[in-house]
Parts: sequence; C-alpha cells; structure tokens
Amino acid sequence: RGTVLRVEGVSVEYAGERPTRAVRDVSLELRRGELLGIAGESGCGKSTLAYAVTRMLKPPARLTAGRVLYRDREGKETDLLALEGEELRTFRWNKLSMVFQSAMNALNPVTSVGKQFHDIFRAHRPAMTARQRAERSAELLEMVGIDPARLRSFPHELSGGMRQRVVIAMALALDPEIVVMDEPTTALDVVVQREILDEVERLRERLGFSVVFITHDLGLLLDVSDRLAVMYAGEVVEYAPAAELAARPAHPYTQGLLRSFPDLLGPRRELRGIPGSPPDLRLPLEGCPFVDRCEHAFEPCRSTHPVLRDVGAGRSAACHLEGAVVGEH
Ligand code: SF4
Ligand code: MG
Repeated sequence: RGTVLRVEGVSVEYAGERPTRAVRDVSLELRRGELLGIAGESGCGKSTLAYAVTRMLKPPARLTAGRVLYRDREGKETDLLALEGEELRTFRWNKLSMVFQSAMNALNPVTSVGKQFHDIFRAHRPAMTARQRAERSAELLEMVGIDPARLRSFPHELSGGMRQRVVIAMALALDPEIVVMDEPTTALDVVVQREILDEVERLRERLGFSVVFITHDLGLLLDVSDRLAVMYAGEVVEYAPAAELAARPAHPYTQGLLRSFPDLLGPRRELRGIPGSPPDLRLPLEGCPFVDRCEHAFEPCRSTHPVLRDVGAGRSAACHLEGAVVGEH
C-alpha cells in the first residue's frame, strides 16, 4: 500500500515569554487505507500535531519546522504547509477532512442537519442539483446508521452519539482520502465509543479512506489500528504495527501505559498509573523526556536525547536501551 500522507520533522511552538516546544520533530507516515493511531496523555502534543497537519494552528501556536506531504494516486506530492487560500480550502474538504472531539462545536446549533449538508455541497459541489444534494445527504446519514428523517432535526434534538455520527458523515460528504479524528469519541460513554469506532471501521473498509485516529485511550486503539504512534512530551517515543506494540512494547512509557489496563477486555481506564509528570516544555530538554518517570533510566538518559530508531519487528523506539526493553506488561 502506497503512502498517502507523510509528516516530516514537524515542530510546533506556543509563543510566550519562554516558548513551549509542544511538538518536536515528529515524522509519521500514513498509508492508503490504513488506520494510524496516535495515543498519549493529555498535553503530549497529539492535538497540536493534528492541528499542524490539517493547517488549523492558530496563534500563539506556530509551526517552526517540517513538511506535510500529500501524495496522490499518481505519486505526485503536494506540501500541505505551502497551500494557501482557495487551494487549501479545496484540499481540506476533498482530500482531507477532520472530526474533532466536540460535535456540538462542529455543528451549527441553529441550523437543521439537512441544511448543514446542503451548505457543504453548495460550497464545494456547485454543480449538484437540489435533488442530488438531498439524496446524497440521506445516503450519508444512512451510512452512519441514522434515519434520514433526521435531516430535519436540529443538533440539540440528537443524542451525543448521533451528533458525532452526523459530524463523521459530514466529514465523508466529499469522499476524502484522509480523515483526521481527534478524540472523536471521548465525550461519549464507553458503549457508544465502541459503536462509533466500529462504524468508522466499517466505513473505512467500504470506502477505502485512511484515518489518523488520535486519543488518550491507547486501549481503544490496539485492536483497530494498523500502526500506532505513542507520543510523550511532544515527541513520538514509539511507532510500531499495533499488534507488535501490544505484544512487545519497546519503550518504557508504552509499557507503563499498557500496564495501566489490568485487562484489555475489562473496563477501559485513562492513561494513568505512571508516577510523576511530563517535563516542562518551556525549559531546555537535554536527555530523555521520560527520564524522571522511567524505572530503566541509566547513565546516558539524563544527558543524551534518544532519537527514534529501529528496534526490530517493524518497531521504532526513542530509548537508549539496546533493542529497547524486552516488553513485558
Ligand atoms: Fe528510560 Fe532511558 Fe529509555 Fe528514556 S532513554 S525511556 S530514561 S531507559
Ligand atoms: Mg487534545
């Protein structure tokens, strides 16, 4: 499967008296049709990365380095960070769309669901007739398991789960190749979270788009992701096929996260349970960002920054330990 999106060396800072280096030198690759999971505690930079990749960063956040390359089916590459105005707007809906945590913010509260679909089509598919717009809107709602009669509903008349499904249907309205989802299920209860994730899986198989799925809940991602990136303190510390990461986590942080689920089939818990807290990203960082919380820390960890490197079985980890740690959790 070819690459559809390549993130190369992306860094983002939040301006301030001492700038916060929220995302540092992140490189990732999304293949056509795959689901790439990005997991990490709140504040690890995963949403900031999503905003950078989708060109939605707002001051005081500022991209300081990197490229985000979209590759079309013919292999032609476009740097998303160089797109402006109309080009960017067209790209956003047609090639790449976004689903964020709060469906309520994504939907217009005073406009019916149907009208919101119509507005998308009117703006981006001006050649469609009113009838085609109505048919396509109904089809999209059905696709996410909602009765098309709901096109007449207003957002407040729908449950949280239904609203999030509507937002997903809207994100798919123009057949994008990539959908970036940032905590799309976090506001919902566990059962509804699962249902929505299953729905995303079905849609992805049927329509063939690629997904970047961002969440603080690593457990949610293990069985649906093709590959997983674990972020810590603004960096990717492990990047691996999901099955490998679950069976043989290479980075001590990933191991800690996995240990915080006593049973993967049991109730989901937040990513807690590793004593200590991440470093202050306003201060210079010399060694490993995880050093204060790592039970394996040794001599070079405090002075030398570990870079992401191949540790076998398709895994990469940013850790000084040889072959990283033998994963037990
Ligand atoms: Fe732990 Fe050192 Fe590896 Fe960092 S580099 S995760 S401190 S062993
Ligand atoms: Mg976030």
